[in-house]
Amino acid sequence: MAKRLIGDCIFCGLTGVELSKEDVIPRWVRSVLKFTGPVKLTKSRTGEVIQTDETIVLSVRGAVCRTCNNEWLSRLETRVKPLISDAIQGRRAAFSAGDMQTIPATWAVKTALLIELALRGARGDGFAPTSHFRWLYDHREDPCPPPGSQIWISGLDMGGSLVSWSYAGGVFTDELEPPNAYLAHFSIGCLVFTVFGQDFEFFANAGRQLMRCTPPPRFRHHLRSIWPNFKPVRAWPGARQFTRADLTDFCDWRDARFETPSRITVPGVWGVTIVRFE
Ligand SMILES: [Zn+2]
Repeated sequence: MAKRLIGDCIFCGLTGVELSKEDVIPRWVRSVLKFTGPVKLTKSRTGEVIQTDETIVLSVRGAVCRTCNNEWLSRLETRVKPLISDAIQGRRAAFSAGDMQTIPATWAVKTALLIELALRGARGDGFAPTSHFRWLYDHREDPCPPPGSQIWISGLDMGGSLVSWSYAGGVFTDELEPPNAYLAHFSIGCLVFTVFGQDFEFFANAGRQLMRCTPPPRFRHHLRSIWPNFKPVRAWPGARQFTRADLTDFCDWRDARFETPSRITVPGVWGVTIVRFE
């Protein structure tokens, strides 16, 4: 039997509780994609294999309590599954604000944060602010992304084998400071999420305004905003999809603009290695 892990839950903040293994890429995704192994998790730049599994598995141990895992996080999965399953499989779909906005956007933030926890040891630290975990917990009954979040979706021609990839970057408003925002891209099957998140507590405590991110213009036809502004989609996937060859360029957002209402911020953006499941 696996050893019991006791510690603090990153979401609800309870201390000395039993922690469980949280599936970052949920089990329902494995059945939707019908992908049979073995699946390798690889660092793109070096080709180093981090793990090999029979099916796509990515989990976090020792950070999420059993209650959070089995209750509200599980409910969020149940709610998002019917909304994004077609897009994950690259099937034709249409999205309206009612079905494709709040739940998929909140789920994307949760997944980006957990991917960061799961992979930081293997690929280096990105940024996952404590305020975001607590926000998701505090809004578990009425899910919504943390203040200052922006979320986009895009389509990927996964070429049959690229079941998931991810990239994380930090954004900082001053090169002398630690990061106070993050940029995360990840794909699940044919659906790509991009999450820009800001440590809203840091900004509030520092008396600063939150930033607004404008993606690099070359991705204008690929990205659809789902949060906070929603662009309805009549036919998905659209004409412009990413291919595997586009991913390295897509992850480079050094020419994105980050602005506050009063001034243009010129922050640093750095990225950690792309990892891919295939
Ligand atoms: Zn918890």
